[in-house]
Amino acid sequence: MVSYKEIGLVNTREMFKKAVAGGYAIPAFNFNNMEQLQAIIQASAETKSPVILQVSKGARNYANQTLLRYMAEGAVEYAKELGWEHPQIVLHLDHGDSFELCKSCVDMGFSSVMIDASSLPYEENIALTKKVVDYAHQYDVTVEAELGVLAGVEDEVAAEESHYTRPEEVIDFATRTGCDSLAISIGTSHGAYKFKPEQCTRDPKTGRLVPPPLAFDVLHEIEKKLPGFPIVLHGSSSVPQEYVDIINANGGKLPDAVGIPEEQLREASKSAVCKINIDSDSRLAMTAAIRKVFNDKPGEFDPRKYLGPARDEMKKLYMHKIINVLGSDGKAE
Ligand SMILES: [Zn+2]
Repeated sequence: MVSYKEIGLVNTREMFKKAVAGGYAIPAFNFNNMEQLQAIIQASAETKSPVILQVSKGARNYANQTLLRYMAEGAVEYAKELGWEHPQIVLHLDHGDSFELCKSCVDMGFSSVMIDASSLPYEENIALTKKVVDYAHQYDVTVEAELGVLAGVEDEVAAEESHYTRPEEVIDFATRTGCDSLAISIGTSHGAYKFKPEQCTRDPKTGRLVPPPLAFDVLHEIEKKLPGFPIVLHGSSSVPQEYVDIINANGGKLPDAVGIPEEQLREASKSAVCKINIDSDSRLAMTAAIRKVFNDKPGEFDPRKYLGPARDEMKKLYMHKIINVLGSDGKAE
């Protein structure tokens, strides 16, 4: 049993309280390799932004759970080395799908876990979420739950009204589970293809897809039911078109990749939305940088010569998100 407190991590409780009151959101960046982690910590330390390091079940399998845990521990020390006196860093499990997985993360030094039982019937979602909350809270680990179903690229069904979180359920759900934050579905979606072309309109000038707007009415309805309660948005990459263009110009193939416009995320950050998950955008930044090196310098075979530029590009992206989209810079001096 390792307590996150011993390794200098924090849970999300205070962080979210301040974010809701201050009208900004905390970035939750997924990581599964060293360069990504360096970029996240450099960007957070330079901007003095609280940050959530997210690890999915897949990342744990890919990178090894022990290694990831020590990387997060190293991240705290690295942040101090960069001159960030009091780093506010959370290590969070993204989309935990079982009690056992959540428990294992709590026992291994995570300061926050998500239990995603949103695909289960309502009462089962409550029961599983409550079981995780009861365990995690013994160790002061915070728990994110999910209500409503996000559309994703693999989904057969297009995002429609029935997928959104039902505002009439949120009070009952939050009260009975005791969860610390709630991921909701208001039209965001996982992956780099968040919407099918038939769900979008097309900009006549650029030919690019224009996605349907987020359901702010549903968000505001939820905020009214649970005033001040921390809300989380998943699937909130913006899929920057400059990265898609670089990828496509250097041998890639990402037709009609489309994300959530940053203005809408900025607007959401000012509400009770206090955690915004970003994963695809850093994958795109990394891929664009690597593809460019491979195309420009076919003779290059030192990984540092393409992973280095990839790291720099990700750092640029993270800083942009922190400063221009989420507004979390300077919130963890
Ligand atoms: Zn997610």
